[in-house]
Parts: sequence; C-alpha cells; structure tokens
Amino acid sequence: MSFVPPGTGWPDDPATLSTPVATTPAEVADLAAHSPSIGELTARQSVCRACPRLVAWREEVADVKRRAYQNETYWGRPIAGWGDDDPKVLIVGLAPAAHGGNRTGRIFTGDRSGDWLFASLYRTGLAAQPTSVHAGDGQRLIGARMVAAVRCAPPANKPTPQERDTCFPWLLQELRSVRPRVVVALGGFAWQAIWPALKAAGYGLPSPRPAFGHGVEVPLTPPTPADGETTLIGCYHPSQQNTFTGRVTEAMLDAIFTRAAGL
Ligand code: SF4
Repeated sequence: MSFVPPGTGWPDDPATLSTPVATTPAEVADLAAHSPSIGELTARQSVCRACPRLVAWREEVADVKRRAYQNETYWGRPIAGWGDDDPKVLIVGLAPAAHGGNRTGRIFTGDRSGDWLFASLYRTGLAAQPTSVHAGDGQRLIGARMVAAVRCAPPANKPTPQERDTCFPWLLQELRSVRPRVVVALGGFAWQAIWPALKAAGYGLPSPRPAFGHGVEVPLTPPTPADGETTLIGCYHPSQQNTFTGRVTEAMLDAIFTRAAGL
C-alpha cells in the first residue's frame, strides 16, 4: 500500500474508513461546502483523490521513498489543515513537500522550511514545542492554524492552475469555518492563492492587489462586523534557498509572528 489507509491508527488521522472521498472537482466543491464541522472538513480533505496527477505523484513518492527514510511509512495522502480549531492566526503555504508533509502527515513537518517555521512559532508563543517531526510528537499550535492552498505534494513543487482550482473549495471552506483575525501568507504563491479565497469568503479587499513583500500588511474588511478587524500579512517563505542566502533570517520570521500574535 503506497499510502496510509484512513482510520488505521496513524496519529492525528482525521479520517475513518467511512469518510467520503472526493474524486472529481465537483465532488470536492460539494463535500467541502457541506462539511458539518471543521473536523469533518479536514477528514474529507485528507482522503481526497480529485487530482489524478497529484494522487499518482504523492503515492509514487510514498512507495519509492527517499533513501534516508527507507524504513519509514509515508503518509501519502493530502495534508489537511492543522492546528487550533478557533485560531486567531491562519498561516497559509502553497503545497506540502514530497518528503516532508507527504511523509509525516502533518503540514510543514519533516523538512527544513518547517524546522525554521516551527522554531519561530515556538519563540513567538504560537507553538508548544520548538520542533515538529511527525504527527503524534506532542506538538500543537496555540491560537494558530496552518493550511496549504494545494493539499497534495506536486511534482517539482509546482501545482498546475487546474489543480489549484480543484483544491480551492477546501481552502475556502476552511477559511469560512475558522474566520481568523490575521492571515500570514508564506511566499508570493500563497499570497496569490489566498486572495481569491478571501474574496469568495466575503472579505472586502483593496484593488489593485498590493504587491507581495515581507512585512506587507493589508487591512481587510471582514464579512460581518462581528468578525472584527482582519489583516493579511506577507512573509518570505523560509525555504532553504531563502534561509541559506540570508533573505530570511530568524529575526525576520519572529518579527512577522510577533506582529501577527499581537494584532
Ligand atoms: S490537491 Fe486538493 S483537490 Fe487535488 S487531490 Fe489533493 S486534496 Fe484533492
């Protein structure tokens, strides 16, 4: 088996064998829109099979594995949103890594970007532990939640526009369900991806769209006054390319999350 079957004891697996499986874009839209709870929404995300290319890739990677992880079982399924169910801060990435989230079953977990991210979240009070290595390691987010705009690891880290659109209803419904006060977009692709979701969820957005940049803040008009002020913040992605070159430093990440937690 090239993926972990739902409901077979993987730590924090949100799904069971009876969780409905989306196999087409229309089924993603329907199952997302009619999810009765955030728990059921993440369960449905975690068993989705609507993008044939991504399903084939995530399962091939889980089957072949990287040599360093030959003795591990790979998750091999979509990476559902994870963290606080009623978060103040929503952190948005583009897509999970083939040998990171696709292996560990938790977003941003098991790769170098995640190491930088969780260390910063811990320093700024948004995570309980400085590291996140695997589902079931005791890590938890405090007032924060993480989602990927595209929930399956794509070849070359590049989802197609069609795959991004197919996955969109999962992102939209999660945004509608959690109604964060702050959205942190990790990287320019996440900045682009969250924009239509915010619009579809009823947020008032400035036009034209401000350019992505580290520390750029955009005040959003919330769907209802009861939702309170909402802010979108840009943050450079803590990719190895960015951290190696010094484009992103620990202090820069900490500044973003300190600001997000304080808003
Ligand atoms: S990318 Fe999204 S829509 Fe496509 S198979 Fe994965 S979870 Fe489903």
